[in-house]
Amino acid sequence: FLIPSTRATRSLALRMTHEQFHARIPLGTAVVDQFLGLQPHPTKCQATYIWIDGTGENLRCKTRTMDTAPSSVEQYPLWNYDGSSTGQAVGRDSDTYLKAVAHYPDPFLGGQNRLVMCETFDKDMKPTATNHRAKSAAVMKQIAHHEPWFGMEQEYLLLDRDGYPLGWPKNGFPAPQGPYYCGVGANKVVGREIIETHYRACLHAGLKIFGTNAEVTPGQWEFQIGCCEGISMGDELWMARFLLHRVAEQFGVIVTFDPKPAITMGEWNGAGCHTNFSTQAMRNPGGMKYIEAAVKRMEPKHLEHMRMYDPNGGRDNLKRLTGRLETSSADKFSWGVANRGCSVRIPRSVAEEGKGYFEDRRPSSNCDPYAVTGMIAQSCLL
Ligand code: ADP
Ligand code: MN
Ligand code: MN
Ligand code: MN
Ligand code: MN
Repeated sequence: FLIPSTRATRSLALRMTHEQFHARIPLGTAVVDQFLGLQPHPTKCQATYIWIDGTGENLRCKTRTMDTAPSSVEQYPLWNYDGSSTGQAVGRDSDTYLKAVAHYPDPFLGGQNRLVMCETFDKDMKPTATNHRAKSAAVMKQIAHHEPWFGMEQEYLLLDRDGYPLGWPKNGFPAPQGPYYCGVGANKVVGREIIETHYRACLHAGLKIFGTNAEVTPGQWEFQIGCCEGISMGDELWMARFLLHRVAEQFGVIVTFDPKPAITMGEWNGAGCHTNFSTQAMRNPGGMKYIEAAVKRMEPKHLEHMRMYDPNGGRDNLKRLTGRLETSSADKFSWGVANRGCSVRIPRSVAEEGKGYFEDRRPSSNCDPYAVTGMIAQSCLL
């Protein structure tokens, strides 16, 4: 419902969480369809610039008209926005800059409209504090000859308009976890409409969506993006997250990437963003020795990794990496074959074939994939 901004209702509005406030019932979708169904404009392109705000985990976007659809990312003009409204600049002098780094067909508007992933720069054209792409891209450039491939498994939880997990009984908890993972049936999973729509949206946008599955906690799902080479891993995962928020918005549902929402503090799996990694040497016959060498190089950098694996310097992950519920403990590095209680897991099939990739299970669901992939590449290869 809409909250009228009168004095009488303001205190009520203030008591609502951000999640509740934003979760209005969608407006008349049939009316929207009527206009989106008009013939697309013969030449013009609506370009939606998307960026990471000052939280390091939330996305913002705004749209402009281009006379024609750009064929390469360099053709998008530098644009600015009010950084003081996104936690990225203070007071006067708040202009902050958007530089296009990747563009994709827009599955919402169709036609020649584009979604444009951007980096953010401050008034002196220096990367903002939450622009981890700039540094990560420099690392990826240095190690490009290793042909680094990444695949990330994005877990998340769907929330109802009231901020409560979607499908959970309003006055209590669902039956204990067990039947929900990869489940099918109205008593096992909730929100599949969103998952299917998001999958199609990713394919339309040209993202390398690898797959999807229902997760252990009811209302929790996962999609994977990969294999992506170098910096494109971060570009694609951020864009896939944008598509998910945007699809869920149309259903009046909220997506949270919080690794351990308060309501799940009991016996419910938290959410991670497992990051799979390989180089050409690891993928070749005999690659196992390169995998083991890389894992050993990461071990002494454990704390440094942990600081980069969530947007709050490692604090978010402390709630999730407890050594229980398929996690390792946050303060200790461990690795093993087929062991889901380790920081790093080598899949059994990889150990059997003697080549392939490893899985870093530490990144939090709200991690910045630019920071995570940059850190892994740097520790393993530089
Ligand atoms: P899990 O068994 O851990 O749940 P998933 O099937 O969810 O694994 O995800 C596997 C991920 O591994 C995908 O994102 C995929 O892109 C990635 N992947 C597969 N092969 C490689 C590889 N050689 N290098 C890097 N990532 C890979
Ligand atoms: Mn204005
Ligand atoms: Mn998975
Ligand atoms: Mn999973
Ligand atoms: Mn995994």
